Amino acid sequence: MSTYYYELMEYMKAIKPISTHCHHRPDAMFANDFCLKTLLEESYSNWCGVEVGDTFESRKYYFDLIKNRNFFKCLEKALQLIYKIDTPLRADTYEIFDFAVRKAHREDPDFHMKLLTDIAGYDHVILDSYWQPGENGGHPELFSPTFRIDSFFFGFNPELKDHDGNNCGKFFGDRFGDFDTFFMSLKELIIDSHKRGAVAIKCATPYDRGLDFEFVTEKKARKVFEKREGSYDIADVKAFQDYIFLQTCQIAAELDIPFQVHTGLGRLSKTNAYLLQPVIEANPDTRFVLFHGGYPWMDDIFGLVHVYPKNVFPDIVWLPLISTEAAVRMLTELIEVANSQSICWGDDTWTSEESYGALMAVRHVLAMVLSNKIKDGYMLPADAFEAASNILRNNAQRIYRFE
Ligand SMILES: [Zn+2]
Repeated sequence: MSTYYYELMEYMKAIKPISTHCHHRPDAMFANDFCLKTLLEESYSNWCGVEVGDTFESRKYYFDLIKNRNFFKCLEKALQLIYKIDTPLRADTYEIFDFAVRKAHREDPDFHMKLLTDIAGYDHVILDSYWQPGENGGHPELFSPTFRIDSFFFGFNPELKDHDGNNCGKFFGDRFGDFDTFFMSLKELIIDSHKRGAVAIKCATPYDRGLDFEFVTEKKARKVFEKREGSYDIADVKAFQDYIFLQTCQIAAELDIPFQVHTGLGRLSKTNAYLLQPVIEANPDTRFVLFHGGYPWMDDIFGLVHVYPKNVFPDIVWLPLISTEAAVRMLTELIEVANSQSICWGDDTWTSEESYGALMAVRHVLAMVLSNKIKDGYMLPADAFEAASNILRNNAQRIYRFE
């Protein structure tokens, strides 16, 4: 590591970051006997296909399988620093970490918020509470909502649910009776949420379907409502959902708020960011924030930011947690092809401990990439330091209007 790596790391400690995306859980979860098991279950370590369990054997099996996963490494590192524990987190040290987590949250119910404001030092965090779209979790001083639209994709049938188990009818009552009232309600709800502080709209539909949104006619989109009593088919559902996405692009443009779109991973099939190209082309006044580097198809993002520099904003949210190495690869190239005021970052976590891990991961990524750019003679030191504060703070401040 060059000295610039350490200088950048030191410099970034003084920057108050703005995270463009999180799912921070309600206060009640942290107040209610919050322990290491809950923390692990509410983290990406829970996405590794193995359960932590309650016995020494189950924990040993769990850590044996996930101990080298980046998701776990970031969380382990954060726990070691927050709770001042030197040992690695494994089955034989589980109780030490569990005791520390329980004690801190029991003694101070506000500890989870203090971790975000005092330890991580966040200035603003955009909250995607998909269990309560458009709300700020009771902490408007830190959280600004993004309005999550996924549950609307299933609004044509109150019995159906999105991948998080939600239907817009459950959240907003029986106001989606027919096609016209549905779209009137969608728009009203977004406008109302914006008035109450929502700074963006969010779509995470790749967990339910692909990003292959087509330019459907209103006539075609209506069918799923008209045939409700009969039998609508998959094509009718897709047309209705395509129409929602297109309408939301227009609403975002009218309100002049960014439209955050999850790209990559999810169900994997048809989640490539490139699939959004026709919609981006047709909506030059909509500011598309493309999440997660489109991982693993990061090249799609490079192409889109290159061709649409005015309305495509790459956000490496979550990427440093998925794979720090991938984030280094992505940012190394992204800096060369994206304008310096467009790249943002978000933590994308449910708990403060993992959020701090995500922040440390992105700082490491920035220090690695930018110190290399200085060493290679590509960037002036001053420009590299400026890029770090742009990506951690200034770009989000401008794009989401936090001034
Ligand atoms: Zn997320």
